[in-house]
Amino acid sequence: SNFASLGLAEPLLRAISEAGYTTPTPIQAQAIPQVLAGGDLLAAAQTGTGKTAGFTLPVLHLLSQTHVHPHPNGRPRCLILTPTRELAAQVEESVKTYGKHLPLTSMVMFGGVNINPQISALKKRVDILVATPGRLLDHVNQRTLDLSGVEILILDEADRMLDMGFIRDIRKVLALLPKKRQNLLFSATFSDEIRELANGLLHNPGCVEV
Ligand code: AMP
Repeated sequence: SNFASLGLAEPLLRAISEAGYTTPTPIQAQAIPQVLAGGDLLAAAQTGTGKTAGFTLPVLHLLSQTHVHPHPNGRPRCLILTPTRELAAQVEESVKTYGKHLPLTSMVMFGGVNINPQISALKKRVDILVATPGRLLDHVNQRTLDLSGVEILILDEADRMLDMGFIRDIRKVLALLPKKRQNLLFSATFSDEIRELANGLLHNPGCVEV
């Protein structure tokens, strides 16, 4: 299997090749076609499996195929929630690397740092927002962020988000999103609490396990 046969657009194939990847990892080979087809996805995957490219590549593809005119500032089309600032920063770095030949923009936000640079960044176009839940809600409360345009939601390391006590924040965020959207949930482990979250969130999800 190769990346071209998975159906990814040429600007993504170029970025993949520049990153030095030749072969999709098993999770990429399974997840990418399912996400491109537009369905919800439940993925069991640890870090180190290539899961980040497994969701960022098809999401970049989907967003690049449609355009929002005029694009309102501070109104992301894709929201990626992560448990920690380190993971948020890594994921956004991947979005930038894989999306470098596409006219899409991204931003990362997390707590523990001054909110003002984030407020300024939200005055520009942001297609893909990577965030930790608490700071995301701070922005919603300050009305510096509009979640009504989210077409794709990704929960990355959902089990860690629950372990860290983010379930109430996640539920608040979910209530702010449009009902019609694509949902991807990535988790290393599957407790009853994760299954309950997944059952309420995902519609006929494809399942991926590596
Ligand atoms: P992740 O599991 O998403 O944290 O990715 C683990 C590491 O694998 C990262 O350093 C990626 O750059 C790298 N990686 C992801 N996909 C591939 C691939 N298809 N070929 C080689 N390396 C990859």
